[in-house]
Amino acid sequence: MTTDIVVAGGGIGGLALALGAAAHGHRVTVLERNAEFAELGAGIQLAPNGIHALDRLGLGAATRAIATPIEALRFMDGVTGEHVTSMPLGEAYRERFGNPYVVVHRGELYRLLLDACRDTPGITLRAGSPVTGYHQDASGVTALLAGGGRVGGALLVGADGIHSAVRAQVVADGAPRNSGITVYRAIIPMRQVPPPLRSWAVTWWCGPGCHFVHYPIAGGRYLNLAASRDDGAAVPFAGRPVSVEHVRAELAPLSGARHLLELGQDWRAWVLVDREPVPEWTDGRVTLLGDAAHPMLHYAAQGACQALEDAVLLAGLLGDGPAGLVRYQARRRERTAAVQRISRESIRLWHPAGAAAAARNAALAAMSATELHDAVAWMHAERIGVHQ
Ligand SMILES: Cc1cc2nc3c(=O)[nH]c(=O)nc-3n(C[C@H](O)[C@H](O)[C@H](O)COP(=O)(O)OP(=O)(O)OC[C@H]3O[C@@H](n4cnc5c(N)ncnc54)[C@H](O)[C@@H]3O)c2cc1C
Repeated sequence: MTTDIVVAGGGIGGLALALGAAAHGHRVTVLERNAEFAELGAGIQLAPNGIHALDRLGLGAATRAIATPIEALRFMDGVTGEHVTSMPLGEAYRERFGNPYVVVHRGELYRLLLDACRDTPGITLRAGSPVTGYHQDASGVTALLAGGGRVGGALLVGADGIHSAVRAQVVADGAPRNSGITVYRAIIPMRQVPPPLRSWAVTWWCGPGCHFVHYPIAGGRYLNLAASRDDGAAVPFAGRPVSVEHVRAELAPLSGARHLLELGQDWRAWVLVDREPVPEWTDGRVTLLGDAAHPMLHYAAQGACQALEDAVLLAGLLGDGPAGLVRYQARRRERTAAVQRISRESIRLWHPAGAAAAARNAALAAMSATELHDAVAWMHAERIGVHQ
């Protein structure tokens, strides 16, 4: 049965849902608050579970074609400079999980989704359409737009991110939680990186109260830098330019990574926010998806992957109306809550000092490649939609 679906938010999750829904024969209108459909940002890691979801949307091959393959997840002690362990992502990993672990440029991934939506009959993209809330009754649901516009359909999906206006009505749990962690991000041309320091790995440098991650993007032409400091920041902010001196001072404990950190210029800072998992995010004809439903810190590199999984599953259940939304929520809540929790807990592994850090290093170094793969299997092995 063809249903009119209204999607609030044209991010990765909203566009993925539009594509999935259209493939199931629904008509979809995506309402994006910004004046244009666009996505900023640098690199994004995609684990096999995210690429499986893109396969289901018909974009797996195109994604693999623009992706930078990653050979290992490398864990370093940021204080001593010691290499602790590396999880290989070669053939054994790819065979076990059925897809590679890659990095893509966020803008390029978004462009794939956007072009596919534009090429798909049945999808209408409306920019400059901020949703403020909704009204529903037995016959349908209406998205209310700032300025008084209204867009009606049979179902509404809030894919409008962590500050979701739709969530404010469905869950009404107030502002996101301030993590008290500041993340600093920069991108540098790879030619500035001394050749011995270049690699096709995602590398973590961990130290007391902070860590630093870097990985190649754009086919290895750039190095993406992201450093986190558990500084108890009192007030969230986003994208604030900060000086090189400030970043170096904040990350001084990571002396083992100084040679790379000091290459960073044009740093910007964000204070991270997330939310507690909630058991329900559906209200009759309205549900949530992606960061609107289960926003997480980025430390498991899974937010977009989970939004893509949501989109594939939900797209296949929309034809069942409100009952399908309830089934979608029931199928997604435990998994997404677990990823929210692990994203927070990772810093307990990454940020200890002294004897606790040494014990962590010893435990990680003792793990075989298979044991390391076992540890991420619950996240990376999911093939959403295959056994729907
Ligand atoms: C630093 C950082 C690194 C990350 N790294 C990774 C990674 O490596 N791998 C990974 O899988 N994930 C990663 N993530 C998480 C990932 O970026 C998000 O989980 C993902 O973008 C969520 O997609 P979404 O579509 O749900 O929400 P969003 O991307 O937030 O999109 C929401 C859209 O809705 C629009 N919107 C907002 N309000 C309204 C409104 N009222 N009306 C209409 N439109 C509205 C917005 O303009 C936006 O276009 C990272 C996140 C951060 C912050």
